[in-house]
Amino acid sequence: MIYVYITKELRPFETDIRDLCLAFFTLQKITYIFDDVGADTICQCEGRACELRPYSSPDIVVKDYYNGTLDADRLTVKSEVKRQLYNYLSKLTGKKLLWGTLTGIRPVNIVTSMLEERARETRPCDGGSASVRPYEYSVRPCDEERHNRQPVAASCTSGKSVRDVMGLSPLTEIDNPIYKENEKIKEYLKKEYYISDEKGFELIKIARNEIKILERPEVRDYKNSYSVYVGVPFCKSTCLYCSFTSFNIEKFGKYVDRYLETIERDFNSRVGKIVGKRALQAFAPTNTAFTSTDKLQPLTLYIGGGTPTSLDENAFERLLTIIDKYVDRSKCIEYTVEAGRPDTITKEKLLIMKRHGVSRISINPQSFNQKTLDLIGRKHTVEDVIEKFKLARELGFDNINMDIILGLPNEHLFDVLKTLNGVRKLKPDSFTVHSLALKRAARLNFELAEWTKNYYLAGVGKREIDSMFKWSERLAEHLKLKPYYLYRQKNIAGNLENVGYAKEGKECIYNIMMMSERHSVYGFGTATTKEVFYENGGKRIESEEGYKSVIDYCERVGS
Ligand code: SF4
Repeated sequence: MIYVYITKELRPFETDIRDLCLAFFTLQKITYIFDDVGADTICQCEGRACELRPYSSPDIVVKDYYNGTLDADRLTVKSEVKRQLYNYLSKLTGKKLLWGTLTGIRPVNIVTSMLEERARETRPCDGGSASVRPYEYSVRPCDEERHNRQPVAASCTSGKSVRDVMGLSPLTEIDNPIYKENEKIKEYLKKEYYISDEKGFELIKIARNEIKILERPEVRDYKNSYSVYVGVPFCKSTCLYCSFTSFNIEKFGKYVDRYLETIERDFNSRVGKIVGKRALQAFAPTNTAFTSTDKLQPLTLYIGGGTPTSLDENAFERLLTIIDKYVDRSKCIEYTVEAGRPDTITKEKLLIMKRHGVSRISINPQSFNQKTLDLIGRKHTVEDVIEKFKLARELGFDNINMDIILGLPNEHLFDVLKTLNGVRKLKPDSFTVHSLALKRAARLNFELAEWTKNYYLAGVGKREIDSMFKWSERLAEHLKLKPYYLYRQKNIAGNLENVGYAKEGKECIYNIMMMSERHSVYGFGTATTKEVFYENGGKRIESEEGYKSVIDYCERVGS
């Protein structure tokens, strides 16, 4: 338990302080000592029943970490609080964090904003020749907070030179404007957020890749489109680390019919048929970024969960038929089904997906070690993964993603290498590397003491987790997959990140849209925010919180 002293003035930054403390003390509980409660008592409520107890021999007390201004604007004060807290904790623990003071989910957005701003600044203005105006990043701090809502010195630790990382040739790099720009951004990130060169370059690389993807002809018009998400909250069993809305299909299977009826009703009442003008009228408030009423059609469609393929064949086909009826896919460039658990995939379901135009699926091993799969409650075998992957390929799926998780209980580097080798043999088109995150609602969180006592858990061996991450990067390179999106979570193994790698042209555009908050997403079913819009200035507007359970959804939408 880590106790953090917090004064009244610092209370607006409570979340930021907690998140940064968690980055130093992974998988620990943080408890605040509020000065207005009384320095001799500790509030232990953490959102549950409040119990004040005497302040005696806590594990670590973090206090007196801020002596800066409180008079500036919120963003300036917040940045300074985080920097001073970082210095304090770094001294206390002897640690330096690769991500510095950054604790937000979407750090890439900081760099894409800078690059896009720079592109606007340097837009050709004199008959076509670009006028490169100096741009001082340091005078225009990015708003990390905006990106938090809902993701080496000259040589980085992977052993590569900066030149290798950025893909520049040795002879031209010094004069290369991109190199210079990268250096400038890297310096800004270091000064503002204390980010290591390694992570700075990772962000720059992904941001540049993202911008390149967004310039493709089929994606370019994303502002005049939106994405549709359909949630199917059923799974065959609950994974140890799961914090999604997920219900055991065996127990809750009786609700499937009603759930599908409700989804249909939801589509029908909210959008009629999602085409052009009608979608705008049904969805868009007057101040959204949408200006063209006639072009509005979905760009991407994503069915996630849960595990959508937990539904039996009839129910699954019914779901896809409902979607066909209501979602106009004439301009849709990507249709993903998160098949996820291989034990839910059958030949018939793959053929159903083919018939309904699904273009991208996920088959997620998480680990190629049977012992781990059993331990974390995934009721499938390693062989299931291999068999279903091969079957999907035989049936013509040419865009298959695989997810793995680093830092699973009892997994050492050797186990992860076995997983990476399994992925290598199957050659997926994209590959997503997650680091185990301790989520509040997950079974792992409730049983943490037991798991920590009985199993080797992430966070114990930071170096080992780093190596796992490096080897995952190497595999992606070997498979010619480039990193294209990144997000971070709180309380994540090794204070690392989740990274999506893909072959060129096989990236998940929906993920980019979600992470970069570039256009609106309409959610149907449980576990979604119903509608997310972006105003012209990029301000996020969530129309209504999503539904927490199947019954909640059926009752509120179906009534
Ligand atoms: S498959 Fe995904 S949604 Fe289902 S229980 Fe596991 S983590 Fe949760």
